[in-house]
Parts: sequence; C-alpha cells; structure tokens
Amino acid sequence: MKKKLIAGNWKMNGSLAANEALVKGLLAGLGSPACQVALCVPSVYLAQCQALVAGSAIGLGAQDLSQHEAGAFTGEISGAMLQEFSVRYCIVGHSERRQYHFETDALVAAKVQRALACGITPIVCVGETLAEREAGKTEEVVKRQLAAVIHVNGHCISEVVVAYEPVWAIGTGKTASTEQAQQVHALLRQQLQAASNQADRIQIIYGGSMNAANAAQLLAQPDIDGGLVGGAALKVSDFLSIIASAC
Ligand code: PEP
Repeated sequence: MKKKLIAGNWKMNGSLAANEALVKGLLAGLGSPACQVALCVPSVYLAQCQALVAGSAIGLGAQDLSQHEAGAFTGEISGAMLQEFSVRYCIVGHSERRQYHFETDALVAAKVQRALACGITPIVCVGETLAEREAGKTEEVVKRQLAAVIHVNGHCISEVVVAYEPVWAIGTGKTASTEQAQQVHALLRQQLQAASNQADRIQIIYGGSMNAANAAQLLAQPDIDGGLVGGAALKVSDFLSIIASAC
C-alpha cells in the first residue's frame, strides 16, 4: 500500500545551531514511523543535515535544482551535486520560485526531468492564486501546470510526487477546506491516471498552512497522500504531531 509522505520545507530558515536542535528533537520523538518523512533544507545545510539524518527514517530533500547538467550557471546547483549529499527529494516549482524567480511551467518541467535523471524524486508544486480561484480558474491552472510536467516526463510520471499548494494558503494561516483540497487532489489524480494508468501509486500531497490542528482531517481525505509543511516544520512538536496524524 502507498505510504503517506510528510515533507518539511524549511524555506530560507535555519542556522547550524537551530538545525541541529530541530533534527535531533525530531529524531528523538520520531520512532519508526509508518509513513515517509522528509526534510527539504537550504542547500548550504545539506552536508550538515546529511550527517544528522544518516541511518534514520528521515529522507533528505532540497528546495530547488538547476535544469542544466553542469557548466557556466553561477549560483545554480545541479542534480548531480545534490546526489552527492544523498538527497532523495527535491521540491520543484514551488510558488515562491514561480513568483520571485519567474519559473515557468516549461522550466519546472525541465527541472523535474533533471531530478528524475539524477535519481531524485521531484516534489512538483502546483496551485492557483487567490485571484485565479476567485475567477473560477483553479482547475484550468493546476491542470495546465501539471500538463507541462506530464508532457516532458510522461514516461516516468509515476516517479514524481505532486504537491497541491494553493498559493493563497501558503504561509497565510488560511488552509484550504478539506473539501476544496480533496476536490483538486481528485482532479489531479484523474489527470495522472489518464497519463500513466498508475495514478494510484502516485503520492499527491497537500501544502498550505498545514498544522498540528488541521492535519488529521486533511490527511483523512481519500486523495490526500501527505503534506508539504512550511512553518509548522520548524517546530519539533508541531511537525511530530503532523507526522503522527499521517502514520
Ligand atoms: C510551503 O512552503 O510549501 C508551505 C506549505 O508553507 P506553509 O506550511 O507555511 O503554508
């Protein structure tokens, strides 16, 4: 049976001291979880976190990678570099990258392809803005974003994790209702099924102000296979409580 995945997105937070305390706290409370757990950390902390999570149930993740293999791309980090630090997951196309770094659907699809080529599971983010939801365009937007990824990676689409993250719910304290989230997850699963015929084994996770209080209800929905957690992943007790809801 497909396991649930709870992935923390630390975003641009942390310090050597804070990371150590956070990861050690998580490891002390984690036990042997029945679900998958990942931490997507800033790249400069990959070596530190690789050592901290070694041999544990926590999978290491990155927050972005280059679409290029190698070369003159100052500031970029390649999939092969991430591989050297035992990175298992990489967030791709987070709305903050789409918004502040102008990442297009085509670029996101190319990054997914690079991650897969390097044996890294991409966590591909899709989601609508508040204006798009209010204009009744949620379905059109998320389907367009996912279609671009399927177009380039159709043959191995069952190897990706899809994260539905309504942009208006990220870091705002506003969570999609269970009905809103389940509805979009079901749509995405239909689209993945049409492309791969194996949608049942693809994890579609929810992100957007998931916290200790709302996680259980969201994770009980039939098409919600886990969570991508920002703010609440920075607090040991909150993140452990979300993991407990998933396991
Ligand atoms: C995220 O950054 O992917 C996210 C879901 O953040 P938050 O949980 O803080 O809304």
